[in-house]
Amino acid sequence: MAIEFTCKNCNAILRVPDEHAGKKAKCPKCETLNVIQAGTIEPQAPQKPMADSADFGNPFATPTGMPSGGFTGRAHQAPHRGSTVLSLGIAALICNFALIPGILAWVFGRSDMREINAGRMDPEGRGMTQAGMILGIIGTLIPLVIFMIYVIFIIIVVVIAALGAAGGGGF
Ligand SMILES: [Zn+2]
Repeated sequence: MAIEFTCKNCNAILRVPDEHAGKKAKCPKCETLNVIQAGTIEPQAPQKPMADSADFGNPFATPTGMPSGGFTGRAHQAPHRGSTVLSLGIAALICNFALIPGILAWVFGRSDMREINAGRMDPEGRGMTQAGMILGIIGTLIPLVIFMIYVIFIIIVVVIAALGAAGGGGF
């Protein structure tokens, strides 16, 4: 297999045998010295090493700039689902009469808070999880309360109508 790379000066695609990896090669077109990278490099490949972009997309990777709080148990903890619980809680408030997201935020939030308090889940998500759970409870209870008020209102109207009919007071 040959190593393929582009000249840093004129962008010509150069091809050299594998055994020249790590050495310098002179571009046949512009005579610029290029260091031959080990491994085949596609001309359209990103300039960054693959490890960087792989770390970036990993939600479980610990950010490098984070202050270490001396917390030792983190490696054994599940990642928190605070953002999921919070989104469900917000969704419960936005679509007021869709009970599903509110109930989900309530149930997930409650079990996740238990996990966080027991030290089995990343405590960083405590605030988000709690907020999402409260929104979920509100989003679940408000439609229920509105529905109950509505039912009570209908019962009162029916009772008044029935009383009026019983009184024989036809208009
Ligand atoms: Zn060149």
